[in-house]
Amino acid sequence: MTSIILLGAPGAGKGTQARLIAERLGIPAISTGEIFRTNMASDTELGRRAREYMDRGEFVPDSVTNPMVQARLAAPDTERGFLLDGYPRTLAQAHVLRDLLVDMGKRIDVVLAIEVDENEVVERILKRAQEQHRSDDTEEIIRHRLEVYHKATEPIATYYADQDLLESVDGSGTVDQVFARICEVLDRIGTERR
Ligand code: AMP
Repeated sequence: MTSIILLGAPGAGKGTQARLIAERLGIPAISTGEIFRTNMASDTELGRRAREYMDRGEFVPDSVTNPMVQARLAAPDTERGFLLDGYPRTLAQAHVLRDLLVDMGKRIDVVLAIEVDENEVVERILKRAQEQHRSDDTEEIIRHRLEVYHKATEPIATYYADQDLLESVDGSGTVDQVFARICEVLDRIGTERR
């Protein structure tokens, strides 16, 4: 059983690595951004509420996001662990998550922070914007999302470092190279625990 939080700036390759890790460990990858996008695509009430914030590159309010995560973590497929991608995004969300997990008798085993150079990130996102036609991937909005990320999300890294849960991973290079570094960390943690 492994429960993981994946941290990294927008464009750090979180989504791709999340899928690879989830596949390897047989746990669901839970991406809040992905859940919002799916809901926007099928025009649900949740999607309509999220859209105005997402299109501006801002966080969807906690009153929408937290209950959605709570419901997702209650699904039976999280029993063998889960991977959170894009949540928590703020210290307030980290605290909500801590309380949720306590209530559910679950815990986080490791927080993986994928570190990348800012220029590399902007380049990657612009490429993805062309490929996926995401409405929140224009250069101006990317810059704003990076700024929002640094302000709100970096304190989370400190919060988990203080609990000895944080593992930094070099996010430069190819998908395979980054995944190999992540696997090294996961193997080491697994070995330490045995
Ligand atoms: P992502 O796919 O993780 O880059 O998320 C895309 C967008 O979804 C973000 O810019 C936010 O508008 C919204 N979002 C995703 N996760 C969260 C979260 N934990 N809290 C608030 N908004 C979020």
